[in-house]
Amino acid sequence: MTTEPCFALRGDLLDFTADPGFAAPAGAQGVRYRPDHWLLVEGGRVAGVQAAEPDAGWTRVDHRGCLVMPGFVDTHVHSPQLDVIASFGTELLEWLNTYTFPAERRYVDPQVAVAGAERFLDALLAHGTTSAVVFPTVHKVSVEALFAGAERRGMRLVAGKVLMDRHAPDGLRDDVHQAERDCLDLIQRWHGRGRLAYALTVRFAPTSTSAQMNMAAALMAAHPGTYMQTHVAENRDEVRWVAELFPQARSYLDVYQRHGLLNERAVLAHGVWLDDEDRVLLRESGAQIAHSPSSNLFLGSGLFDWLGAEGQGANVTLATDVGGGTSLSMIRTLADAYKVQALRGVKLTAYKALYGATRGAARALHLADEIGSFDTGCHADVAVWDWAATPLMQHRVDLAETLHERLFAWMTLGDERLLRAAYVAGTQRYRRA
Ligand SMILES: [Zn+2]
Repeated sequence: MTTEPCFALRGDLLDFTADPGFAAPAGAQGVRYRPDHWLLVEGGRVAGVQAAEPDAGWTRVDHRGCLVMPGFVDTHVHSPQLDVIASFGTELLEWLNTYTFPAERRYVDPQVAVAGAERFLDALLAHGTTSAVVFPTVHKVSVEALFAGAERRGMRLVAGKVLMDRHAPDGLRDDVHQAERDCLDLIQRWHGRGRLAYALTVRFAPTSTSAQMNMAAALMAAHPGTYMQTHVAENRDEVRWVAELFPQARSYLDVYQRHGLLNERAVLAHGVWLDDEDRVLLRESGAQIAHSPSSNLFLGSGLFDWLGAEGQGANVTLATDVGGGTSLSMIRTLADAYKVQALRGVKLTAYKALYGATRGAARALHLADEIGSFDTGCHADVAVWDWAATPLMQHRVDLAETLHERLFAWMTLGDERLLRAAYVAGTQRYRRA
């Protein structure tokens, strides 16, 4: 007898079986829409999908008329930066010094770290995001708090201690040896425990010495399944600074390559200012770009060339990058992604955008057998959404004549107010009051 969740959830089920790419909506492949179906959940996992009403043995959860999707995957977000989201008037480097570093310094206090982690994880779930790749702070206690909170909620979380041994203020710098001991201890206690994975977390090339990046690469190589997360080529002043700091490197991305940090488990935020050689390097290494459109717009960083990246075979996923980004909502993030691509003359379909925030992210993280779809055997990480949050939105959605038109209006007009409920491994972790 299992005591784990076992139920059938009714709604309009949407997930993806393959990348719809940049095809026009009418020709898009890989879209799996099953309106008014039942998602069967057994032992916290997807046991199947069916049109027919399940037999009396199943507990029924009726969300008919709602859009039911796999929980979103946010591939780049900073847990302590809810404290500085929506801060005025700066670009990246000044933004870090003025707002972000002072906020992160407070996380040395265990009470601040625990309260911050709890607030952050609950907020993710309240935005329909059930999995994330997260930067806490340089402080070990901030990682402990985040992993412990994610474990209690049963969430798939990838995170690690931020590494910064130079060009950061007092209270936020580590050194190679202490950082190595902290990482090792955290890996041994948290990596592979439940649904948690450790990521060697180089904040960005300017704040780590070569010795520290080499240390991170050695730990990653020694511990199978660990990830690497960092930032790359977000802002032009930052790119210039990296070129000064690493004159021997061909490019910003090449700095990470030279230090052994690029592989198929590397998650690099932004990648706005890359060239074709960089994009080829992304493909060859299997690393992914966590595209953060809201952040790129808000900090004035630039317009990511998604088509160029995919044209060279690079993996692209979607991320909020709070607090450079202005919302934890992946829906708002997708709407911003559309606008960024529109400024580049590219039309991003709702299918492509939603794929990138679900199965596409799962695939790039090598977690497609666990998250991102309703494939049988995946964890039942599920978000239940209303089709509209306001009368005006209802009016627009009702006028839609095709699934894509409806989804695109939903994505463009929607936000976290649409969320009715979120389940993690079959357990309800959020329900709108
Ligand atoms: Zn970031």
